[in-house]
This record gives sequence, structure tokens and C-alpha cells, in this order.
Amino acid sequence: MLRILQNIADFIFPPLCAICGNDLDGEKVVCKECFGKVHFVSNSQCRICGKPIKSGTICKSCRENLPSFNFVIGCGSYVPPLSNIIKLYKYNRRLSLSERLARLLYSSYQTRGDVKGIKLVTWVPMRRAKIRERGYNQSRILAREFTFIAGLKSVKLLRKVKNIQSQTKLSSCERLVNVRGAFRVDYEILNALDSDLKKEVILIDDVLTTGATLNECSKVLKKAGFSRVIGLVSAISP
Ligand SMILES: [Zn+2]
Ligand SMILES: [Zn+2]
Repeated sequence: MLRILQNIADFIFPPLCAICGNDLDGEKVVCKECFGKVHFVSNSQCRICGKPIKSGTICKSCRENLPSFNFVIGCGSYVPPLSNIIKLYKYNRRLSLSERLARLLYSSYQTRGDVKGIKLVTWVPMRRAKIRERGYNQSRILAREFTFIAGLKSVKLLRKVKNIQSQTKLSSCERLVNVRGAFRVDYEILNALDSDLKKEVILIDDVLTTGATLNECSKVLKKAGFSRVIGLVSAISP
């Protein structure tokens, strides 16, 4: 009944793009033009963390502290409209955006020949209490949708075992300390995998801010025997 009423309402007042207010033209929540504006703020990015750099190939932070992940593939910089799309998806329960965000991940993934052989996908986990509060883990849904499009296998390899302080107000150094020991590999799931799947993995997250979370997750995955961990994220904060 509610669905029918919603359909009638949508017919009389067609929903508009939540970002620019234009006609959605059959899309959900965000129009094609807004998705088309996803971009990187700089032409040159660090080959490891994907952050903008002025010169060279690897940023100062990665040179000083080599991350545990091999490199990160992102869809664009965490600036509007991408940052707004992600906020709608993550905090405003606009879950219908997950499919298009996953398609965006897939097009970035496809440009990289060096990750084509990887068959396993996992995601950055959240604590149960947090999932209950938000209703979902946005990275898990992204990973599932991406895996479906790419024809790969996704498993819940990681568990978040430590309640950590929110990272938003911490410096990059504080974040590294804050996430230490926060993640564990689920060995029951890992051991059940075929041995050819246990070598390389794609690790999905929504936004890379300082890279501390992705770094910590990659660290435990490498300790568990993975030789390559590739981050795949919707956005990289510039
Ligand atoms: Zn729009
Ligand atoms: Zn870097």
C-alpha cells in the first residue's frame, strides 16, 4: 500500500536530484550529470595511496611510512559532488545509490590491468553496535554489489574487535595509533577458502581519509598470508 502511494506521489511530483535539484530522468536520488562530475582534483596522484602530489610518483607520507596495502584505486577525490553522494549513501540511508557507486568502483577497477587476476574481495568491517545504529555497513553493501558486477567472490575476512574513538577529529598520526589492534582476520573463514584465493585480495572501503584504517586492515591481512592487498575506495580525500 505504501509503495503504491509512493508511486502515485512520484508520478505527480517526480523526485528531483538530491544534489542539483534537476530532473532525475529515471535515475534514483542523484542525476546522471552529477555522477558525471566525479573527478580527481589533481592529475598526478601518489602511486600508493592515491593522494594528490605535486611531483614525483610517491608522496612523502608513503615514502616515510610505507603502507601495508600495495596501492589504492579510487573513483575520485572526496569533493562535491562525490562527497555529497557518499554522505547521502552513508548517513541518509539512500541505499539505492549503492549500485551506481559500485559501478563507479568497477569502472575504476577496470582501468587497472594489474589487478585483474585477483578473485577475492573483502571490506572494512564495522562493530555490530554501529551496524545496529546505522542499519547497515555501507562498505559491505558496496563490496557485494561490486563483486556481483565484476564476477568475483566476496567474503567477510575481517572483524572489528576494538571499539575505537571516532577518527574524524584526529590527526593522521593519532589515527594510526587509534586503529591499532582494531581488526582481526576471521581464520575460520580464511581457512575454508581454496588456497589459490588466499594470496591476493581487494579491500573495499567508502572513503580513504588518512589511510590509517585501510593500512591496519591490510596489515592483519598480510600477516595472515596475503601477499597483495589492493584498496578499492569510492573516494580519496585530497
Ligand atoms: Zn544532479
Ligand atoms: Zn602516498
